[in-house]
Amino acid sequence: MSVDPKILEIIVCPQCRGDLILETESLFCKICALDYPIRNKIPVLLIDSARKRG
Ligand SMILES: [Zn+2]
Repeated sequence: MSVDPKILEIIVCPQCRGDLILETESLFCKICALDYPIRNKIPVLLIDSARKRG
């Protein structure tokens, strides 16, 4: 799953404004440990859709 690098440069975690790390099927915020899903190559940056990583 790929996301446009230009998009990655401008998006931040909606909860903490931290940088997001692109992973296979999600974007991960290492500051608040939330995983945001990527659907159809579009990152879903909604706190309600994010999953807390244990
Ligand atoms: Zn965050």
